[in-house]
Amino acid sequence: MTARRLLLPLVILLVAAAAFAGIKYRVDPTRCSGCGDCTRLCPVSAIELVNGSSSIDPDLCIGCGQCIGVCTHDAIR
Ligand code: SF4
Ligand code: SF4
Repeated sequence: MTARRLLLPLVILLVAAAAFAGIKYRVDPTRCSGCGDCTRLCPVSAIELVNGSSSIDPDLCIGCGQCIGVCTHDAIR
């Protein structure tokens, strides 16, 4: 099985585990540059830019963690 075939089940597993654990993320506005990379990446459009800083809607966030990986300012925890 190729690495690519393993990726989808792994992502599904991580999302399910995060959802089960109730993991939610938030943005530290003092670190956010407002670049918008996370807003473009979020698969469920849970992030929007507000007053130059991104903001995560906890009701929409599924806890996939992709935004953490894309943020170069370590602003999402
Ligand atoms: S990727 Fe990071 S710095 Fe850029 S808008 Fe999102 S939280 Fe802010
Ligand atoms: S953890 Fe996933 S769903 Fe939640 S805000 Fe980040 S990219 Fe969007």
